[in-house]
Amino acid sequence: MDISVVIPLYNEEESLRELHDWIQRVMTEHNFTYEIIFVNDGSTDGSWNVIEELSKKNPCVKGIKFRRNYGKSPALYCGFKAAQGNVVITMDADLQDSPDEIPELYRMITEEGYDLVSGWKKKRYDPLSKTIPTKLFNATARKISGVHNLHDFNCGLKAYRREVVKNIEVYGEMHRYIPYLAKNAGFDKIGEKVVHHQARKYGHSKFGINRFFNGYLDLLTLWFLSHYGKKPMHVFGFLGSIMFFISFLALLIMGIEKVVDLSNGVYGPLADSAWFFIFLTGMLMGLQLFLAGFLGDLISRTSPQRNDYQIEKLLRIEK
Ligand code: UDP
Ligand code: MG
Repeated sequence: MDISVVIPLYNEEESLRELHDWIQRVMTEHNFTYEIIFVNDGSTDGSWNVIEELSKKNPCVKGIKFRRNYGKSPALYCGFKAAQGNVVITMDADLQDSPDEIPELYRMITEEGYDLVSGWKKKRYDPLSKTIPTKLFNATARKISGVHNLHDFNCGLKAYRREVVKNIEVYGEMHRYIPYLAKNAGFDKIGEKVVHHQARKYGHSKFGINRFFNGYLDLLTLWFLSHYGKKPMHVFGFLGSIMFFISFLALLIMGIEKVVDLSNGVYGPLADSAWFFIFLTGMLMGLQLFLAGFLGDLISRTSPQRNDYQIEKLLRIEK
């Protein structure tokens, strides 16, 4: 099969027929063998009925129905697991992404050798309250992830070589960072294609303003995981030890000074300056950090994923 189109959706019943007909038209025009996997993320409207109706008309239409709303990332994860095409294309269900982009995306993966091609909504039809923070968000994501050539990390329209989606795990709200996940898994031929974008035709956006906070927190997690995920002690233990020893030394010096003062007949409380408390806190915090690192290491030791590595090929070795 050439192409799997994976479409996560939450309450998008008005768009689905139009989207399906459009994709079908593009696929037949280009003679692609394909499947469309609609992942219904706990919609409370009639979306699922529409999907069932479409699949009766078109055997290429498949569906996954969540019992409740889990989010876009879990929907993509399940769609990716089910996908059988050589190239997997994701798109939003709200008709903001155009299926006319599919053939070129497919060509970039199969002929130009990209692992992942991300759409770039160069000209966006979204409210300013969304486009400006998005610029900032993308700049940070580029910097932290080291994927420097992407302008639009969170574009719903993306194409992947099948291997990529089978080897990354999209969870939580990590759909914003799939290029980063792919890069961490060793798929670093990541490209970009300018795509047409349209204003939302029906319904409203399913993500509110907290997308930005969550987005940054997720970026932090990913950064940490990609650098120290398998060795948390190296950060926490390092910071903790430094803090502990500096504070410990300072307190020791203060203590010795007190003893010297005492022997000279100068009496005074040990805790007579703010520094005493600062270093005391420093020592405790250092200990805490160290313990956090130690616990992190213990946890990652027992984690079943501790020896998960991305193996690209095996030569004369049985799997
Ligand atoms: N979506 C989903 N589950 C959710 C929220 C959104 O499957 O909990 C789908 C939604 O139906 C759409 C896509 O994710 O197909 C992108 O969502 P939306 O258009 O609301 O995001 P925006 O375009 O505003 O970034
Ligand atoms: Mg949208």
